[in-house]
Amino acid sequence: MTTKTKILRIKITRTTAKCPLCGATAKRHSTATRTLREVGHSRPAALLVTYSKHRCTACRRTFSVDMSHLATKGARFTSRVRGCALDLVIRKGLTLEAASLRMRQRHFVHVPMSTIHDWAAAEMEGECANV
Ligand SMILES: [Zn+2]
Repeated sequence: MTTKTKILRIKITRTTAKCPLCGATAKRHSTATRTLREVGHSRPAALLVTYSKHRCTACRRTFSVDMSHLATKGARFTSRVRGCALDLVIRKGLTLEAASLRMRQRHFVHVPMSTIHDWAAAEMEGECANV
């Protein structure tokens, strides 16, 4: 991130959340933050997401509040960035190099070609699995 980066702060904190493993209600035990690179308009943008972490007393599992609407687990980019890059490659037929360049020039986000390749491969795999 550069000093020109527009930072948008988002809070997704809950006092309780449903355990994804056993379905029991789990209390919050802490909060954490993650940074996601976002599609920029006139300059780079990033989301600084504060989220709650929960510990299930029933199955003892620790998990984070659901934020799948923003990004996939462990991702450094928002789902919007991923969707935008995939659209360039899959729908518009751009090469990985051209898509990476366009993401940087038009959307102010540097997405490596290898990352776009991995996203496209995962997308194609999903499509084949649905046939
Ligand atoms: Zn549980």
